[in-house]
Amino acid sequence: MTMNSSVSRRYKIICLSCHSDISDYGYALQCKCGNALLRTIYKDKRLKIGPEASMWKFAQWLPTKAKLKTSGRSITYKSVELARELRLQELFISFNGYWPEMNAMLETCSFKELESPPTIQRALESDVKALVVSSVGNTARAFAHTVSTTSSDLKLLLVGLESSFGKFWLPEQPSDNVKLILLEKGNDYSDAITFGNRLASLPGLVNEGGAKNVARRDGMGTVMLDAALTIGRTPDHYFQAVGSGTGGIAAWEAALRLKSDGRFVKGPLPKLHLAQNLPFAPMYNAWKAKRRFINPSVDMPNAKKSIDKLYADVLSNRTPTYSAKGGVFDALNSTHGEMYAVTTAEAAHAARLFESLEGIDIVPAAAVATASLLQAIDDSTIGQKDVILLNITGGGLQRMRRDRTCFNMGPHRRLEGPDSDLEGVLETLV
Ligand SMILES: *Cc1c(COP(=O)(O)O)cnc(C)c1O
Repeated sequence: MTMNSSVSRRYKIICLSCHSDISDYGYALQCKCGNALLRTIYKDKRLKIGPEASMWKFAQWLPTKAKLKTSGRSITYKSVELARELRLQELFISFNGYWPEMNAMLETCSFKELESPPTIQRALESDVKALVVSSVGNTARAFAHTVSTTSSDLKLLLVGLESSFGKFWLPEQPSDNVKLILLEKGNDYSDAITFGNRLASLPGLVNEGGAKNVARRDGMGTVMLDAALTIGRTPDHYFQAVGSGTGGIAAWEAALRLKSDGRFVKGPLPKLHLAQNLPFAPMYNAWKAKRRFINPSVDMPNAKKSIDKLYADVLSNRTPTYSAKGGVFDALNSTHGEMYAVTTAEAAHAARLFESLEGIDIVPAAAVATASLLQAIDDSTIGQKDVILLNITGGGLQRMRRDRTCFNMGPHRRLEGPDSDLEGVLETLV
């Protein structure tokens, strides 16, 4: 499979370890050499904004040829009320979700909808026939929404959890190309990932790839691009709650691109402040111990039990992209970053504060990020005059459910667990 040569001239995809150019390998997630991320190198170093109202205004730094139909993008605004309460002079909010008055139209209510359009477009351009996505909800909704609002023959196989079935809805009728498989109660997100990986090993199926997928990361990177454009420069600090780490890595990579542009990075790169929700904080623990590798028995003892207790269940990834070259560990080192562990009580308090002052509901993960900002203020890690970007990774969900009729997806199959028989699954789905 070779890509259109005009595309390979607009950008290259290289391996961060051996620097091989793998641009012509279709929907590649990794180079043969091993444990390093791939990265897109765009030929045009100067950011040019397109006329689109959607995220495709940043198409110049997105790894696709065409632009499938999508409506939303990340919205950046300067906070007044929360900023006053926290005594911050330059607090900017990146709002990713549904808030019509603010023109925020990510209708599945999270920043996963910045990943799905370029990823689906990249899959189509790489002749992928069926994509496998494992998700507790937000990623599934985003990908299903993109597939259901664009026309193509691409099949989407979602692997989710019975326990989070309530999250598998769409603001439109799901397309027949979207199929939902649920693992019974007692399974967690990593079980869904395990089963998804087995499913994707079948001929004709491809795993979407998570943080390893350059289209997902570059899509997520538009948060930083939109912020830099709105503020006129990159922020001093970037706050986000992380599970897989994709968004943190993406913010760092976007900042690196803005630095080579020359107009937006005035001082150092934005410092990453990444937060996890106690009692499950494997990246926090490894980072505090200054270790590049997560040691499961030390950094996430009793993982299943801890995950069950999470307020922000999207932050439950047991295999985050932390140690791989170009992953979270490198991103934190490169930006002199910091990690935070936030209790559910702190997050719930932060959610109430944000919602009462800014006037829109936010999802638990965004509350975790807000709580980490409060911790950073208490610890004097940030200054009152610093330019701060708080990534509200999901919001407006209650607002959406009030405003609009939503439709449940499937489920089309229920399975016992990650080791369930693959036989028969395909026939009923594809
Ligand atoms: C997925 C998700 C996160 C975690 O993001 P990663 O960058 O994948 O670690 C945070 N908030 C919300 C709302 C999410 O859906």
